[in-house]
Amino acid sequence: MKTLRLILGDQLNHEHSWFDKKSNDVLYVMAEMRQETDYVKHHIQKVVAFFLSMRNFASHLTDNGHQVRYYKISDKDNLNELTALLSNLISKEKITHFEYQLPDEYRLDVQLKDFCKTLNIESKSFDSEHFYTSRTELAEFFEGKKSLLMESFYREMRKNHNILTVGDLPLGGKWNFDHQNRNKYKEEVPIPFPLQFGTDVSDIVKEIEEQKIKTIGTINSKNFEWPTSRKQSLEVLDYFCEHLLEHFGTYQDALYSGHKYLFHSRISFALNSKMISPKEVIDAVIANFHKNEDAIELSQVEGFVRQILGWREYVRGIYWKEMPEYKTKNGLENTGKLPDYFWTGKTKMKCLQHALSQSLDTAYAHHIQRLMVIGNFTLLTQTHPDEVDEWYLGVYIDAIEWVELPNTRGMSQYADGGIIATKPYVSSGSYINKMSNYCSGCHYNVKEKLTDNACPFNSLYWHFLDEKKEYFANNHRMAMMMSLLKKMKPAELAATKEKAISLMENIENL
Ligand code: FAD
Ligand code: SF4
Repeated sequence: MKTLRLILGDQLNHEHSWFDKKSNDVLYVMAEMRQETDYVKHHIQKVVAFFLSMRNFASHLTDNGHQVRYYKISDKDNLNELTALLSNLISKEKITHFEYQLPDEYRLDVQLKDFCKTLNIESKSFDSEHFYTSRTELAEFFEGKKSLLMESFYREMRKNHNILTVGDLPLGGKWNFDHQNRNKYKEEVPIPFPLQFGTDVSDIVKEIEEQKIKTIGTINSKNFEWPTSRKQSLEVLDYFCEHLLEHFGTYQDALYSGHKYLFHSRISFALNSKMISPKEVIDAVIANFHKNEDAIELSQVEGFVRQILGWREYVRGIYWKEMPEYKTKNGLENTGKLPDYFWTGKTKMKCLQHALSQSLDTAYAHHIQRLMVIGNFTLLTQTHPDEVDEWYLGVYIDAIEWVELPNTRGMSQYADGGIIATKPYVSSGSYINKMSNYCSGCHYNVKEKLTDNACPFNSLYWHFLDEKKEYFANNHRMAMMMSLLKKMKPAELAATKEKAISLMENIENL
């Protein structure tokens, strides 16, 4: 009997029970494939990070005595398509059993299920042993309930896993310290220098270029900063606990032009590639909190735990509950296109210029840049969610469809009709001004709505509300904004709309 076990690029889980035993009858296969590099145009740093992490993982397995067949993107015998590659190996190696870990992406799930149906050998799927929840746990939890509130799922998760709880009650008397997580960054609080690994990735970049893989963004190939091994992933976690956790919650929503990462962990790639598990991350953060309770407040820790135990597991559950229809939802019937500066960062809007340039330079933007700057702009300009999804899925180092899609199409673009967000995340320039230092250095004036140099977000905001008012007529969370819209004098509304329409017509020049 000879078993072939597939390990996908985002299944780099050192702790998986597959690896508890060594066997000469088990062959592991890993492959860098055009199928994966080409389904969307990815950021160069994302392709590098995946390839390098996969290579490091394969070496780790080999060093530990496992049999591994690894196909590099440049290998002549790499068939570059998953099922062709597997079929070839099964016949060449006289494989009698095929095994795989359940993929997190719907397209790969379908591909592998279909593939197994064609096989005349036995096949079996395994859990990836990474998440707290199974694919269907969220759907089961919300069965029969009207709304799919993240907060109720999160509380259940806290209780089920005894995380920051005392019996069935929350530690500190409150489940959620969100209102303490909404501060503007104060410059007197020093931000530690970001942990960087400085890896030389020139060879792999050359390989990618030679294969003519189309990518977006830039890379400093002599100084690659993302973690690409389990050891480095653990270092990211340690660094976060030691230097950043203390202020994480307080400045979680802050926007600041002077620093790219503020107090964010930048652990999403290590997590999404499974080099580190959510349980390890949460356990380390909580242990650190208990060791340093004088210095670290509960609100900082709860704010972080909520992102991983709450949001991350929640969006995954929504993905598996709602796919494949979710991917085509366009509840607000938006049709716009993204302007070219999404690929160059060249816009006069300081907030967007900063968030876009940073995304293109580092393959990273933090949550509020993604939600309240970039996503806010694409929603206010009524961009088609397919365009928005494609950009987000390509540009970010951590973008894998199961987590990108619900965040972008759902939370950010409200294209799912309110499954995830109870109201659209849109704002005028005043929110950005409140949370950032962008506006003082901007070409546009955040206090103006109609003048030539008025902040575009201001007229776009009211125009959006007016355009979409029937969609929000019964949304009580929008009632206040809708009543303000109603109270606007007709002449003022007409001028505001005229301004917004002209901005949208000239979107490339903003
Ligand atoms: P931190 O701010 O330090 O947070 C810690 C961890 O919490 C993150 O690493 C992540 O694993 C988890 N987390 C936080 N918020 C979310 C969330 N909303 N959903 C899921 N996990 C969350 N995250 C991705 O991993 N991949 C994506 O493709 C992605 N696309 C996004 C698109 C939009 C429009 C928005 C608004 C958010 C998106 N997020 C995505 C969530 C979040 O922005 C990133 O997880 C976070 O910015 C990663 O940086 P960090 O590790 O420094 O996070
Ligand atoms: Fe952004 Fe408007 Fe502020 Fe400029 S003025 S940074 S466009 S919110």
